[in-house]
Amino acid sequence: MKLRYAACGMLAALALTACGSGTPTEESAPPAPTKTAAAKKSGKVHVVYGEVTKNQDLVPIKEEWEQDKGLEAVADLITGILTLPTDITVEGKECGEENAFWQPDTKTLTLCYEVQPWMEDTFAQSMDEKQAKEKASNAVMGIVLHELGHATVSLYNLPITGKEEDAVDQLATVLLAKDGDETAEMALDFGEFWQILASQSDLEDLDFADEHSTDDQRAYNVMCWVLGSNPDKFTDVLVGSKEDGLLPESRAERCPDEFAQIEKAWMKLLGPHFAG
Ligand SMILES: [Zn+2]
Repeated sequence: MKLRYAACGMLAALALTACGSGTPTEESAPPAPTKTAAAKKSGKVHVVYGEVTKNQDLVPIKEEWEQDKGLEAVADLITGILTLPTDITVEGKECGEENAFWQPDTKTLTLCYEVQPWMEDTFAQSMDEKQAKEKASNAVMGIVLHELGHATVSLYNLPITGKEEDAVDQLATVLLAKDGDETAEMALDFGEFWQILASQSDLEDLDFADEHSTDDQRAYNVMCWVLGSNPDKFTDVLVGSKEDGLLPESRAERCPDEFAQIEKAWMKLLGPHFAG
């Protein structure tokens, strides 16, 4: 699984990152904007690949991430978007569970190596292995940006009402949906991941007490926000019957307004902290 995110579209505008559209040729790629000398001073992002000591199945995953410079790409993404008030760390780690989390005390964004087999196995239950690997690679960017959302709430002391978990799903989806076709696909795969998980579990009462919305709700939310980002493009793909796992018309009709609202809120919250 590659951790990759070539910022295009909106992120390029925010981060002054050069980007072509689709599959650019050298001739058609736009010239790279240059950063101004007055760029704000930012903290650095340190990258750590933690050792695997218990589960040897995770060794090739650590090696793959290191070889692909996956976490370095995440670090570049973060400093490309944001001016950090302090240094932070992005680490790959053997956690003993499939998880990812932001630790405010150590200012560390941790992505557990276990996330990769978890996501690949989840997708592989309803598609072939190659496609599952690709979708997992896409969906993990949703996880990374979700955790980056937690990091921004903590680093910038942002006000959030409602569930923070929903708010940072919103940020992840806004960033992916607005950035270009390839990243919108990542957002859709992020939503599909929650949908597959939901189909595999029976909800219990205490699931509704969780700080996260249910997997089904997360899936429908992501679908709604991606739809809202571009109804012309996504209505045929995302709106339809319950049997097909699609968004009902009753929710879909308000998704453009919903998306506009969350985009405005996040851009306002992060506006003073954008890089450049
Ligand atoms: Zn979270």
